Amino acid sequence: MFGRAPKKSDNTRYYEILGVSKNASPEDLKKAYKKAAIKNHPDKGGDPEKFKELAHAYEVLSDPEKREVYDQYGEDALKEGMGGGGGMHDPFDIFQTFFNSDPFSRGSSRGRRQRRGEDVVHPLKVSLEDLYSGTTKKLSLSRNVICSKCSGKGSKSGASTKCSGCQGTGMKVTIRQLGPGMIQQMQHPCNECKGTGESINDKDRCPQCKGEKVVPEKKVLEVHVEKGMQNGQKITFPGEADEAPDTATGDIVFVVQQKEHPKFKRKHDDLFVEHTLSLSEALCGFQFILTHLDGRQLLIKSKPGEVIKPDQFKAIDDEGMTMYQRPFMRGKMYIHFTVEFPDSLSPDQVKALEGILPPKPQSQLTDMELDECEETTLHDVNIEEEMRRKQAAQQEAYEEDDDMHGGGAQRVQCAQQ
Ligand SMILES: [Zn+2]
Ligand SMILES: [Zn+2]
Repeated sequence: MFGRAPKKSDNTRYYEILGVSKNASPEDLKKAYKKAAIKNHPDKGGDPEKFKELAHAYEVLSDPEKREVYDQYGEDALKEGMGGGGGMHDPFDIFQTFFNSDPFSRGSSRGRRQRRGEDVVHPLKVSLEDLYSGTTKKLSLSRNVICSKCSGKGSKSGASTKCSGCQGTGMKVTIRQLGPGMIQQMQHPCNECKGTGESINDKDRCPQCKGEKVVPEKKVLEVHVEKGMQNGQKITFPGEADEAPDTATGDIVFVVQQKEHPKFKRKHDDLFVEHTLSLSEALCGFQFILTHLDGRQLLIKSKPGEVIKPDQFKAIDDEGMTMYQRPFMRGKMYIHFTVEFPDSLSPDQVKALEGILPPKPQSQLTDMELDECEETTLHDVNIEEEMRRKQAAQQEAYEEDDDMHGGGAQRVQCAQQ
């Protein structure tokens, strides 16, 4: 169920907030939350932050699945979306479901429980250059807003009548016969009133929204992509999603999608770049210019006398990605070197090199030794391709063997390997 092992984080704080022990029963949790939530309710002059924390802690610990995730991996794991169910709920909603009614006689400002509208999630493609330097993107979106003419009533007079299709419940029930003595009841939103439970007289319909209560509106959002943001990071505009009557408006959420870069690969705060050297550069030194993500030209050069080996990495400090919310700090830049060797050399080149390079080991073999040897020829080979082919052939033979002799052949082959 869990893709990777998350690091352990604090997993006692929620118990401390509610003032219960780690092995508290669901009943204990309920009692503790009830007592503390009444005492700290903002309508009674309590601290809203404390009230929120209580609801949050109770929401997690009262859900067996979430509690298990929390006990095992802590708070961060829940933030990363483990334990099912994404965001947390409105603390007032939790409080109210708990009591089923308002426990305070002096009417709270939140008398009736509001539905919460859906969040709208958009992917936001961002180049690595923009993630390095930060940028602002202006995006034009269309969303529904409450009709200004009728204030979301849908009618001129503000009146509405109960929908006859659903008797004002907004829901319709259909019954299906599945088999003898077996029926299935299905509930779905009423099609006549679109689940609102009310209908508006044709003549009384608001001319602006035609009784829909909402009208579409174009809106331009300025999305600030901050330096160092990561792929998958969310930028939230609270309460900017579609409006609907008696509904708390959901959020518009942009999810950063980092575009592939032709030159740089990113790993968290570090950048990786590939560079190919000729053999003489690898042996005798090199310098080249690398254009960074912000357009700066970096001069990259070897130290005098330094030799770069094939597949070697070198790092430059503080030239990696800018770090999120620490814009003056940067990760590392890693350069991965490939060295291109010549395919062949002329006899003169061989002679010249032999004069310069350290002597070959055991380069002198006696005629006697040579006489006793057999000649061989070296072929070019693509080793990966060859190994793949061999493995496929072996797999085929193995399966045939298995078909012919049953399990016995399998054991023999395993033992031989
Ligand atoms: Zn209806
Ligand atoms: Zn209207």
